[in-house]
Amino acid sequence: MCFEDNDEFICTHLGDEEEMHHGAVIPPLFQTSLYVLDNTDKPVNSKVKQYVYGRSGNPTVDLLEKKIAALERAEDAKCFSSGMAAISSALLAFLSAGDHAVCVRNAYDPARIFIGEYLAGLGIEATFVKGDRIEDFESSIRGNTRLIYLESPVSQIFTLQDLGAVAKLARSKGIKTVVDNSWATPIFQKPCELGIDLVVHSLSKYMGGHSDVIAGAVAGNHADIDKLAGRERSLLGGILGPFEAWLLIRGIRTLPVRMRQHQHNALKISRYLSEHKRVRKVNYPGLQEHPQYELGMRQMKGYSGLMSIELDAEEKEIASFIRRLRLFKRGVSWGGFESLAVQGVYPGLVRLAIGLEDVDSILEDIDSSLAGLG
Ligand SMILES: *Cc1c(COP(=O)(O)O)cnc(C)c1O
Repeated sequence: MCFEDNDEFICTHLGDEEEMHHGAVIPPLFQTSLYVLDNTDKPVNSKVKQYVYGRSGNPTVDLLEKKIAALERAEDAKCFSSGMAAISSALLAFLSAGDHAVCVRNAYDPARIFIGEYLAGLGIEATFVKGDRIEDFESSIRGNTRLIYLESPVSQIFTLQDLGAVAKLARSKGIKTVVDNSWATPIFQKPCELGIDLVVHSLSKYMGGHSDVIAGAVAGNHADIDKLAGRERSLLGGILGPFEAWLLIRGIRTLPVRMRQHQHNALKISRYLSEHKRVRKVNYPGLQEHPQYELGMRQMKGYSGLMSIELDAEEKEIASFIRRLRLFKRGVSWGGFESLAVQGVYPGLVRLAIGLEDVDSILEDIDSSLAGLG
């Protein structure tokens, strides 16, 4: 029987190999930097893969990479020390001086700065587009465009890009497509199945899920991932440590269960908020009134817990709304078990990460803080 295209199986059991590890139900943590050969300089055991040195590979990290590739339905994946290490490495691998890139305007701030400022310093130009319509991409492609950088749903405002349509357009012109899939996770969106070349992740968010690890990943075809592993990962050296990989394997075991609960809670909260008179707008693609609801239904299987709202209130009142929340903590990250609130980048915007707490308690917390608005 083959379970290898079943997400729950991949998350819980792929790569278990108890027979190799004394029956241990948890694959061991290989906390080692070095691997030695036998006294004839041959592998110590011809039946298992011989590793050489920690920067080029580690069995614990390999297992995590195998799970991520399987979840993304990609041929291969490599992990990095952070989401930004993964993103910057993927961009450096496929762009060089004289090239042009197209990037979604609201992409995660450091990624946008890396493209708009850092890469500009290396002689790589970029055009930033809203990305809601395929025409945004068509009209910005030039003769030297080599890469399109996507994030769907995008940070702060959670609008979508039509991944299949952008992939098709890019393929016809030999342009690489990269998408940040941290928001949806492969449980809810599989960009490679829509024709996207490379998927990048901050594993620090939902994939880890417990706010205790920083990590990143890139998934794609063998040739692209080999190139990235041999150059940027090995030469810039932003590898993932084995303990972080072990924590991620642990977090991923419950990823499908957690994502279902984030979705359940966020759908209920977003519907409540969209009917509240002090809430001007709810930016959440799971809501039927979201202008791209149809596209979301087509390219995603579900919705995570991160959204933003625009309040009908002064900036000062918005800060006090956030301070009055009791269950929500104030913090900039997301994707953990805990509910978080933070002021957004646009005036009036509040970003809410809906956590795994009891949904009625979350609702009560928001409701009483909204009631305190002047
Ligand atoms: C946090 C985040 C990143 C960066 O990840 P790090 O692990 O913090 O480097 C990338 N993309 C998105 C959408 C993020 O929210």
